[in-house]
Amino acid sequence: MPELPDVEVFRMYVDTTALHKKIRRVKLTDTGLLAGSSSAELKRRLKGAAFQATRRHGKHLGVHLDTDAWLMLHFGMTGQLDYAKINDDPPQHTRMALHFDNDYRLAYINQRKLGRIRLADDFDAFIAEQELGPDALQIERKPFLELLSDGRGTLKARLMNQNLIAGLGNVYTDEILFQAGIDPGTSMADVTPDVAADLWRTMRRVLRNAIDRHADPEEFPDSWLTPHRGEEKCPRCAGSLKQAKISGRTSQYCPACQSSPTS
Ligand SMILES: [Zn+2]
Repeated sequence: MPELPDVEVFRMYVDTTALHKKIRRVKLTDTGLLAGSSSAELKRRLKGAAFQATRRHGKHLGVHLDTDAWLMLHFGMTGQLDYAKINDDPPQHTRMALHFDNDYRLAYINQRKLGRIRLADDFDAFIAEQELGPDALQIERKPFLELLSDGRGTLKARLMNQNLIAGLGNVYTDEILFQAGIDPGTSMADVTPDVAADLWRTMRRVLRNAIDRHADPEEFPDSWLTPHRGEEKCPRCAGSLKQAKISGRTSQYCPACQSSPTS
């Protein structure tokens, strides 16, 4: 599922492929992902415009058009982008294709249809309307410590709550907790300021490293958990990895390498 590093890679992909080209045609093959405007309005506002710049907040990608509107993309569980010559067959599950005047097109692909395509007048106002917390790569140490300072719920649920910190999903939260050596089921009551400060550093290191490696688990260091998801052996201690349902999501962790901070 696209999380912060994946969406950052999409953002850089748009920057290196689709900026400053006039949109000649808007092909919407599925209007189910469109929210807040009709397909006629989306087409009217995109046609003739060009991408000018991109921004990302959490798992949301914003594309600023030269008409001043923003095309806001969310990728749900399975979304991705593909830029190619128009005469190529569009990839399977393409929901929207933007044809540019250089005969290339950008396809927004989404198999499970959980994403969203929207128009916004202002990026920051849109993020505020979605009630998203600060971006996980932008949040400073002090506000991060404050978010983790009251003792309710589990640590994993807290980190994945987009209203508090935007960008972390199941996979990267598991990776951060694995690298920090903390059990995903840790109660917030056991998260001391020292533990929270260590988590903040680990979170930034994991996210930056993942982006540097194109958010591709095959490029991640072998000592990371993500390339070994679904496997039985811990890449660090060769002990058994475990799975547990925490806040409705399947967490993977190593009981030998990860513990609750107070235990
Ligand atoms: Zn281990």
